[in-house]
Order: sequence, then C-alpha cells, then structure tokens
Amino acid sequence: MAEAGPQPRVDLHCHSTASDGTLGPGEVLRRAAQQGVELLALTDHDTLNGLDEARQAAESLPLRLVNGVEVSADFHGRVLHVLGLNFSSQADHPLREGLAHSDRLRRERGLRIQEKLARKGMADAAERAEQLCENGQALTRTHFARALVELGYCPAMQAAFDRWLGQGKSCYQKAQWPLLEEVVRWITASGGVAVLAHPLRYRLTGAWLRRVLTAFCKAGGSGLEVVTGHYNPDQTRRSAQWAREFELMASTGSDFHSPENPHVELGRLEPLPAGLRPVWAGW
Ligand code: AMP
Ligand code: MN
Ligand code: MN
Ligand code: MN
Repeated sequence: MAEAGPQPRVDLHCHSTASDGTLGPGEVLRRAAQQGVELLALTDHDTLNGLDEARQAAESLPLRLVNGVEVSADFHGRVLHVLGLNFSSQADHPLREGLAHSDRLRRERGLRIQEKLARKGMADAAERAEQLCENGQALTRTHFARALVELGYCPAMQAAFDRWLGQGKSCYQKAQWPLLEEVVRWITASGGVAVLAHPLRYRLTGAWLRRVLTAFCKAGGSGLEVVTGHYNPDQTRRSAQWAREFELMASTGSDFHSPENPHVELGRLEPLPAGLRPVWAGW
C-alpha cells in the first residue's frame, strides 16, 4: 500500500467476543466493512481464538484482514499492551505458544478476582462475569465490570474500575504477565510487527515512557499506536512526537469493544499526522 496520497481507512485495533468485545468476530468484520474500513486487524486480548472466524468472514467482504492480537506485558511491574500485527498463520509459531501461558495466567487471575468479589458479598457478580464471557474465551476485567454494572453494584464501567477492579483496589488481582521484551520477541519471531498500544494510557511520566520505548525498540519493537479512538488531537500530536523521537512506524486503531459505546466506532479515526511512516506501508 502506498505511503503517499489519501490515507486508506485503516483500523488495526479492535475486540470481539474472543476477549472483551460484545460482537462475534464475524460481526466485527461485517461492521468494519459497513464503516468503510479497508484494512483491519482484530486484536483480542492475549488470544488468537477469533482469527479463524474473522478470516472466514473477510473472504466475502470488501476489506483486507491481517492477523492481530493485543498482548498483556510486564515492564518493571507495570502492565503494558503490545499489539502483534500481520504475523504468520502457522500453527506452531512462538506467539501462539507464548499466549498459551498467558491464557492460563488469565484463568487463574479470574478465579482470584471471583474469590475477592465473593468475599465482598458480590458472588453473583463473579458468576455473572463468567456468563458474560463466551464459553472458553478470555475472561477479562471488562467482564467483571459489566457484571458489576448490570447487577447494580456500580453506576458505570468506569466506577467499577475506580471502586473495585482498578490497580490497588480491593478486587484487583495482579498477574505476572510475560516481560515486554519476551512479548516483542514472540511477535517478531512469528513474522509480525510489534506495536506499543495507546502509549499515553499507562499514566507514565515522560522518563518512564522513554525507558519503555528504549527497551521496546531494543527488543525489536517497531511501531507505536499514534492514533486511537480514545485520543484527542493533542494526545495524537504528543504520541506522534514519541514516534518521531524513537523512529517508530505509526499505527492507528479504534480499540472498539462494543456498539454500546457511542464514542468509539470501527474505522472512525483521525488521520495519521504528517511525516510518519504508516506501519502498513510495506504490507
Ligand atoms: P484485563 O486485561 O483483563 O486486565 O482488562 C483490561 C481491559 O479492561 C482493558 O483492555 C479495557 O478494555 C478495560 N478497562 C481498563 N480500565 C478501564 C476503565 N477505566 N474503564 C473501562 N474499561 C477499562
Ligand atoms: Mn479491552
Ligand atoms: Mn489496551
Ligand atoms: Mn484494546
């Protein structure tokens, strides 16, 4: 795809029921096509489970799908999200093997969160979260937050994180996610591009973000998510500066989870700021 000229409609970050989205992979693909998306990656949390259905749906739709995943990673005790994009579909690649471990971590963490909720008298929310999570798919804090809202323990998702599920809150459970460097290597060894997702959402100081990006680049990371559905123009401008400083390619993705959030829609994104190389330029 050419670097110059009008930018194609690209969305390289979204979720389905394979993790904490509310639409199935096929539904996400059809919605993306309706929204005029030309290049899409489905990037569920720590799982490739939605990709087969997504690929099947893409066959009869006017868009191009590349493989994707959003991997939880640890950097000195902080949780970061690394997007793996356009990796191979081979059954035995290192990313797939690494994610099998993340899947076990997620399951064990889910049980601990359920125990904590039960101890707080909210066993019904613990049970409901599991029902909201599609059979055998990745159980996330989003499922717990949705259950807490549905059962009236919280007025909204944000409150569920602020009160119970956010880091340091009483129902938070830490998980020892794989190290940032390890995750980047899984992705690159599987033929993919590693992109640090939403760099301004970790509430890191400039010095810490510099440490993260230095380690990320050294491990082989080559992209930064410069445009996301949650950013305002000032945040996009700041992310673009980080991409230029570290000579990272720029990615764009809505982080769409559900049609119920009217603020985030598939493919509805600001254009990439000028002077950045799009991560998809060589695809
Ligand atoms: P997990 O990977 O299971 O720890 O869950 C992380 C997910 O929770 C993120 O990908 C978001 O979708 C969601 N999340 C985290 N913080 C918030 C928040 N403050 N409000 C709504 N959703 C959130
Ligand atoms: Mn999520
Ligand atoms: Mn994320
Ligand atoms: Mn995401």
